[in-house]
Amino acid sequence: MKLPVLPVEGGCQCGAVRYRLKAAPLGVYACHCKDCQRFSGTTHTLSMVVRAEDAELIVGELAGFDKAADSGRTVRMLGCAQCGTKIWNEPLAARHMLILKPGTLDDMSWARPVGNIWTDRAQPWVHIDPAVPNFPGQPADRQPLFDAFAAEVARG
Ligand SMILES: [Zn+2]
Ligand SMILES: [Zn+2]
Repeated sequence: MKLPVLPVEGGCQCGAVRYRLKAAPLGVYACHCKDCQRFSGTTHTLSMVVRAEDAELIVGELAGFDKAADSGRTVRMLGCAQCGTKIWNEPLAARHMLILKPGTLDDMSWARPVGNIWTDRAQPWVHIDPAVPNFPGQPADRQPLFDAFAAEVARG
């Protein structure tokens, strides 16, 4: 995996929100939980874990609500106040991180997921690669996913 030249930018569907990612993420993985199915309207979402200080809003306004996640934790879901495009989540139990939705990046070609979480909720016809780090629910520790991401980056 080859990281892009940083910073990179992204934004919402209507263009009101633009943001900047200033440093490499800690990891990218797919989440198959019911919340992700519901809010994306499809089988899963991609989650890109970044340090909170590495993501900054350039323009626009984020609005959202506090959601009790399937994990039992509270997650602040933030999206464009105008068009509703989800931009990132703030896990209130881990405020040093943001879970960015990489589909909002202008170019997400480099952001390949290295594993899956909530595979117990994955639809039966979704392919889960058994060779990557997978978790049936919320992992107690995301480190195996971060390690797999770092290994992909090191491989180039
Ligand atoms: Zn918008
Ligand atoms: Zn999820």
